[in-house]
Amino acid sequence: MHTSIKKKQGTIGIPRGLLYYKYFPLWKTFFEKLDYRVVASEKTNAGTLKEGSRYAIDEICIPLKVYYGHVVNLIGKEIDYLFVPRYISTTFGTYMCPKFLGLPDLIRGTINNLPRIIEMEIDLRKKPIFYSMLETGRKLNGSFSQIKSAFEESVKTYQRFRIIMEAGFTFQEAFDSLAKNPAEVLERRPTGNPVKVAVVGHGYNVHDPFVNMGLIKKLEDMKVDAVVLENLPVQIFRQKTKISETLKNYWGNEEEILSGVDYLFKNNLVDGVIFLCSFCCGPDSLIDEIITRDAKTRDIPYICVVMDEHSGQVGVITRVEAFVDMILRRKRSRGIKEAG
Ligand code: SF4
Repeated sequence: MHTSIKKKQGTIGIPRGLLYYKYFPLWKTFFEKLDYRVVASEKTNAGTLKEGSRYAIDEICIPLKVYYGHVVNLIGKEIDYLFVPRYISTTFGTYMCPKFLGLPDLIRGTINNLPRIIEMEIDLRKKPIFYSMLETGRKLNGSFSQIKSAFEESVKTYQRFRIIMEAGFTFQEAFDSLAKNPAEVLERRPTGNPVKVAVVGHGYNVHDPFVNMGLIKKLEDMKVDAVVLENLPVQIFRQKTKISETLKNYWGNEEEILSGVDYLFKNNLVDGVIFLCSFCCGPDSLIDEIITRDAKTRDIPYICVVMDEHSGQVGVITRVEAFVDMILRRKRSRGIKEAG
């Protein structure tokens, strides 16, 4: 997946926010195979959030503010198109949060001087993903055979990317490995740390080190294995998680979190769970409650870390340190009891 310096049919800018942390390898391959150059905005930093916050109302979640900041960052680059997808539904019976449904409209209505926006509507209730990519490819003057082969190649890349992540690697490691050698599938990362903690939440919170205040790195420094949803077997996300006879979840992103947590709990795979939750996110607050109850019933330590632009790194890290400390003490005292 090398990005050519030569300007081809044009340059497409992709904001490094929201579903970038899930589908960027797929989108990038697709556009490059259609002979476009792809650039992503710069990594999130304090300036991205500050810039994005200027365009957002206070009550909006931090991932959207960050996304606005990334769009502004791209306007400063030489791009011909801005890619802003409209994800409506990615699994049968669920919807994405309304921010995803209206993302291109939100961007158009909020930020001026935009380049031409390339949309891609994904609604698996209505059409297979190939048709969505075909429509997008047509807007970029691709022929049917060119789009079909770009689609097939991008799906292959995405699958390879998921296999690498399933082997225990982080988003960035998996992406870097694809960029170096697309055919290489890395060996499962060896572990052996005494504590294993799941870090769950939306990919744009879990994989963006600025938004999560370096949490994954911090856990690594504390000799804690951080397990993210993408490290789990892909097939567990194919079935809907049953919450109760009366309560159903309709949110697509949250469905993945629930399936992942359910799998981790049932198979006793982690010593604790940290849920990275966005301030002002309705879907997150709903499932926080569900996971809290489930964790309590199963006696698994759980904390929810709520993130907004006022969250301080010191406060978050102190909470996480205390959480890991508590897990270690529990493990030690259980070990003593079992030995005695
Ligand atoms: S799911 Fe929550 S965090 Fe994500 S865009 Fe919607 S409101 Fe924001």
